[in-house]
Amino acid sequence: MEGKIIDGKEISRQVKEEVKSGVERLKAEGMTPGLAVILVGDDPASAAYVGSKERTTKALGMHSEVIRMDRETSESALLDEITRLNGDPAIHGILVQLPLPEQIDEQRVIAAIHPDKDVDGFHPENAGRLMAGMDGFVPCTPLGIMVMLERSGVDLNGKHAVVVGRSNIVGKPMAMLLLQANATVTICHSRTEDLPAITRQADVLVAAVGREGMIGPEHVKDGAVVIDVGINRGEDGKLHGDVDFERVLPAASSITPVPGGVGPMTIAMLMSNTLKSAGKALRESR
Ligand code: NDP
Repeated sequence: MEGKIIDGKEISRQVKEEVKSGVERLKAEGMTPGLAVILVGDDPASAAYVGSKERTTKALGMHSEVIRMDRETSESALLDEITRLNGDPAIHGILVQLPLPEQIDEQRVIAAIHPDKDVDGFHPENAGRLMAGMDGFVPCTPLGIMVMLERSGVDLNGKHAVVVGRSNIVGKPMAMLLLQANATVTICHSRTEDLPAITRQADVLVAAVGREGMIGPEHVKDGAVVIDVGINRGEDGKLHGDVDFERVLPAASSITPVPGGVGPMTIAMLMSNTLKSAGKALRESR
């Protein structure tokens, strides 16, 4: 049973070690990668995410800048801050923690980040690059899932991958990456008819919905690889995935837990994207 569980903590630890070595190499050439994170408001979950990004950035030897802005901040003040960071040579990655207060247009903010510093991979240019199969920044969560699959020895070639969820942050980029890896891809969403009939065809099933335990054994084919992106705070106060882990475990050939699965990979890939950006900046400066 043990071997079935894909250990996101361990794989993310390996990725972070690799990033740390990469940072040391860049520093030896006189370049310190820098990540700026902007937090608007005081949402406790967002503040916790930002704190953990700051700690990880520093632990890997990178320069970290956290900009905390008032809940009432205007869109133009936030855009001015992004413009400043776009022009700051010490910063290679800019991340605006979402969600933003309602007076601020999220899409306009994302579009204001220079695509070369868009380490979250949400800018329309990077989304287009992913679609076109060109190099660019790929959103951290789906990128982390691809690393998990690869390092767990999952062969995607010709396999049927079903992604439940079609957000710009997870579902859509996930589907594009699986397609690039030669899987046959189906995307499901809230209007999909007879979801279990489709998910039961999946060799690889990715659940990115945000509904606790919605994927049960009736959704899963025997031997499927099950990836659970969902992070839901349960009535018990604990974190739960979109997959009913205990009941799906017997059918799955491998499965990611929540917590300790996809979550830790996301931050590791943010670090990896920041290193990639700094490496590119160094090469271009020569
Ligand atoms: P969104 O709310 O943006 O998207 C959810 C998707 O699920 C939508 O496409 C929606 O369909 C679909 N959906 C909703 N209800 C159903 C249903 N009954 N059947 C089938 N599909 C349904 O969420 P995100 O993509 O941002 O996040 C998804 C989950 O992943 C959340 O729990 C989030 O917390 C978590 N997450 C975890 C991360 C990590 O690091 N582990 C990172 C990012 C997110 P429609 O488009 O039709 O509305």
